[in-house]
Amino acid sequence: MRTVVIHAAKDLRVEERDLEPLGPGQVAVRIRAGGICGSDLHYYQHGGFGTVRVREPMILGHEIAGEVAEIAPDVTRVKVGDRVAVNPSRPCHACRFCLMGLPNQCLNMRFYGSAMPMPHIQGGFREILVCDATQCFTASRASAAELAMAEPFSVVLHGLSRAGSLLGARVLVTGCGPIGALVVAAARFHGAAEIIVTDIVDEPLVIAKTLGATHAFNTAKNPEALAPYAAEKGQVDVMIECSGNERALRAGMEVVRPRGTIVQLGLGGDMSVPQNMVVAKEFLITGSFRFHEEFPLAVSLIDSGRVDLSPLLTGSYPIEEAVAAFEHAGDRKTAMKVQLAF
Ligand code: ZN
Repeated sequence: MRTVVIHAAKDLRVEERDLEPLGPGQVAVRIRAGGICGSDLHYYQHGGFGTVRVREPMILGHEIAGEVAEIAPDVTRVKVGDRVAVNPSRPCHACRFCLMGLPNQCLNMRFYGSAMPMPHIQGGFREILVCDATQCFTASRASAAELAMAEPFSVVLHGLSRAGSLLGARVLVTGCGPIGALVVAAARFHGAAEIIVTDIVDEPLVIAKTLGATHAFNTAKNPEALAPYAAEKGQVDVMIECSGNERALRAGMEVVRPRGTIVQLGLGGDMSVPQNMVVAKEFLITGSFRFHEEFPLAVSLIDSGRVDLSPLLTGSYPIEEAVAAFEHAGDRKTAMKVQLAF
């Protein structure tokens, strides 16, 4: 079968790999759609991010969906032909954090397409993926392309669970890549009264408006766009920071009200934070890392049509054009979510 393998920065190859045999409780999924995530793009553009580097060839990909092609004799959860989204989160269910109910913090996580551990965890950009049946979530209506967005949508649902209730809230989303855009869709579903989104490129902001943003501002063209929200110590209840950019974080903190909540969802480098403002405005600041139990909810929201993520999909390429797909995914003016079609 064909797979998409990263060897080093700008060295992405389509390679043949052997099929794995099915073990007990396992299924073979014929992958149909695979979304390119920011982390896949970092491996392609820079050979990694932070201290995480590609040290051996690794199949990329963790936003995947397809159809069940074969099941082990003991599997009852899915049947051959089912269309499924595959949860790439594989915690050990035995470490102290798993036993605390925090599987996203698992000490032995085997998340697809991750160069954090050595040997690396091979990913899901392959024609056939052998996985546990428990990773598969069946859908009846949504396409494989839509279902492949269940993974980034789960990341966002987890981030919003860290924020607490958004009912009636004025929410600021800084950074409108795929994650920021998905936050807009999820915040609307969570009952936010008003959703303000910022970016430094116009094109993603147009997509954010179709997903439910009330106001969309290009803060490169209009640096004072958020100024009215700074009145009376701040008018924003909850800020979801999706850019990983210090300037965006600082600008947002100016408009978050006292006792407001800030969720840092974007990964940047180290940022300095104006701690005097944190003290004086009594902010609650929290991080958000991966997800686990949100995945079935993401699948059901997508499959039922209660959220429509189709405006996010801006490109789909056959596997043999993987390099072109990754080049396109790096262009923020024309790409929101780019997928491989298998
Ligand atoms: Zn664990």
